[in-house]
Amino acid sequence: TTDTQDREQTDGFHLVIDALKLNDIDTIFALPGIPITDFLRISQAEGMKVISFRHEQHAGNAAAAAGFITGKPGICFTVSAPGFLNGLTALANATTNCFPMILVSGSSEREIVDLQQGDYEEMDQLAIAKPLCKAAFRVLHAEDIGVGIARAIRAAVSGRPGGVYLDLPAKLFAQSMDKEAGRKSLIKVVDPAPKQIPAPDAVKRAVDLLKSAKRPLVILGKGAAYAQADADIKAFVEKSGIPYLPMSMAKGLLPDNHNQSASAARSYVLAEADVVMLVGARLNWLLSHGKGKTWGAEGSKSAGKQQFIQVDISPTEADSNVAIAAPVIGDIGSCISAFNQAMGSGWAKPPADWTGAIAERKDKNLTKMAETLAKNPPVMNFHSALNVIRNTVKENPKAYLVNEGANANALDFTRSIVDMYEPRRRLDVGTWGIMGIGMGFAVAAAAVTGEQVIAVEGDSAFGFSGMEVETICRYDLPVCIVVMNNNGIYKGTDVNPRGDAMAPTQFVKNARYDMMMQAFGGVGVVAKNPEELKKALDEAVASRKPTLINAMIDESAGTESGRITSLNPAAAKKK
Ligand code: ADP
Ligand code: MG
Repeated sequence: TTDTQDREQTDGFHLVIDALKLNDIDTIFALPGIPITDFLRISQAEGMKVISFRHEQHAGNAAAAAGFITGKPGICFTVSAPGFLNGLTALANATTNCFPMILVSGSSEREIVDLQQGDYEEMDQLAIAKPLCKAAFRVLHAEDIGVGIARAIRAAVSGRPGGVYLDLPAKLFAQSMDKEAGRKSLIKVVDPAPKQIPAPDAVKRAVDLLKSAKRPLVILGKGAAYAQADADIKAFVEKSGIPYLPMSMAKGLLPDNHNQSASAARSYVLAEADVVMLVGARLNWLLSHGKGKTWGAEGSKSAGKQQFIQVDISPTEADSNVAIAAPVIGDIGSCISAFNQAMGSGWAKPPADWTGAIAERKDKNLTKMAETLAKNPPVMNFHSALNVIRNTVKENPKAYLVNEGANANALDFTRSIVDMYEPRRRLDVGTWGIMGIGMGFAVAAAAVTGEQVIAVEGDSAFGFSGMEVETICRYDLPVCIVVMNNNGIYKGTDVNPRGDAMAPTQFVKNARYDMMMQAFGGVGVVAKNPEELKKALDEAVASRKPTLINAMIDESAGTESGRITSLNPAAAKKK
């Protein structure tokens, strides 16, 4: 016994840290509190980068964005019950978006939770997390920490990526064990996201269909961006000569000014294409479920007759909304290089009447857009402000653009006006169209890459995570937030018919969001016109100082929900 007592000991704290490090995870997004405070202190002492937030949802969103950018699971640590629940929104959002992240929450004592005896922050967290993520695990013994972390990593990044919950009861951190045995219990995960090679006959079926197309279209989704197969995708698009549409977060996978981009003729190509190849994009609401008038008016030559190819890692995605004629299941890198091979050398480009018709519409729409952007109305509106941001991003193509806001305003307009030039640089509201991702995503992009971040935020959207400006200042991150301030949700001009208070969509007029940044030592600026906005943006990018630009936008400029207005239920009873 003296022998074992003399031998060096380790504990739960150190085993968790060592397991993460062993798997090349060097950053933790978190919010300290019982029982993880000491864990975070020790992590930092052991050389981990710990980014501590003001609300768990933003720490979780940061982990999710880090996962999307790096392809490694982003790690978020929270306290039990309420902290766990705050993190859960981010975990569910990550899962919905196919971003790999691991939410690790401390939890109360099993014996007390299971008998419902009323522990401090008592909650059966594992049971609650399960339906909202890809996988959920709990570790009860120090010697199982290695397995727990390995399982969480594999679940997060293999196949279709997503969120994983890992439950670590308070007692686990303090458990000690023999140091050498502890070291041996850890697992370095070999090949965490194994390649999945598509079946040759599936590739052939798809290539044959593509060959037969008269009006082919490629749609690149955020799965294609995530896959980090940038060179193969570019080679495929250029070799095929097929026009493509990038989904929101696939913008920049090929530069938006690429001559095959059909973004400026989006409604035309969706309605007219006969063969559509989806690459890491789902036929969900963002693509009108692959049917209806977006996909061709009743009786038109394409309506309901499109044939789809779907390249995706998930075998159950095909046929989720409409029939998929040629599913190709595998990782996008392997699938696209198989396409490149199968297409051979003598590939015929799509018919010129198709590409010509697209070019014509594109030119017309781009000219119209350029005219709108060139206008300088007396009161700054979304277009005149976004024209400035468009130029700044063009001058700084490596910058990350975070974007959230009401559809049609800060969001839709930014998506269509601000071109992206590099892959995975646009981070936004994603599959749910969620509000609240802004500051979490901005912190992650800056902390993980060191690049400049420009966050274009509706004034409403900013409110969901605004307190994290303190986090941005505390870590002195190169984040420039542009609040598109139009005094409200959608716009600031609604009226309350009762006359006793503001309308539910209105905010305090001309609010000084810039002073929030000043409160923590950052730079806060009011911009009333494009010149002031440009000057402030240039200074932010040059200095890399935390900056908030309060861009005062015409309060009557907003449009409600834009493309998705139809999702608002309409009252049967008319006023
Ligand atoms: P978007 O919103 O941009 O259209 P979605 O989130 O709807 O994109 O779709 C992304 C798709 O990409 C998902 O169906 C997911 O299974 C798939 N995916 C994610 N990563 C990979 C990968 N490495 N290889 C293949 N498919 C992937
Ligand atoms: Mg607004």
